[in-house]
Amino acid sequence: MFVVFGAGGVGKGALVGRLLELRPGLWLSRSWTTRARRPGEPEDAYVFTDRGSFLARAEAGGFIEWNEFAGNGHFYGTPTLEPPPGHDVLLEIDLNGARQVKKRYPGAVLVLVVAPSSEVRAQRLRSRGDEEAAVRRRLELGEAEEAAGRLVADHVVVNDDLQRAASELAGIVDMHRERVAGTVSSP
Ligand code: 5GP
Repeated sequence: MFVVFGAGGVGKGALVGRLLELRPGLWLSRSWTTRARRPGEPEDAYVFTDRGSFLARAEAGGFIEWNEFAGNGHFYGTPTLEPPPGHDVLLEIDLNGARQVKKRYPGAVLVLVVAPSSEVRAQRLRSRGDEEAAVRRRLELGEAEEAAGRLVADHVVVNDDLQRAASELAGIVDMHRERVAGTVSSP
């Protein structure tokens, strides 16, 4: 299982999209959220739901991790995993979620994505059309999240150039797949 995490605006989504093109056999989990869909955001970016339905699912044990995101006060969660046979699981979540996943699945590989600079992050967050107050709050939170993320991450990828960063990420996937294959085939 591969967990791509990092603050909002570091370009996790684009990076994960490119990784899926580069490496078949990865299955990206679709998260649930209580936030509203952004203008122009694909309908299947998340399962968009209300707080009541989200909490009912959480109580029934239907998430492997979930979290109230401090950046906007909404709930986000990874539903119980159902990858097709032969696929590795890929999650794109926040630091809190990554920590929960590592506890539950110690073999999970945690990859922290960071922006090349805080200016680039600010620009990316603003371009999504979120309100300025929310953008500021997420920028501040992101700094703390990055520092804490470095302590738990197995790898850190700087998203300076999408193609470069995606091939670095693909290399990380290859390395861990080879390791697991090596372990399984050892006498
Ligand atoms: P956004 O609203 O910008 O799509 O996402 C806000 C934050 O929630 C991002 O850091 C994103 O990675 C994170 N997130 C998305 N899905 C999940 C999830 O299933 N669980 C957790 N813990 N965080 C998530």
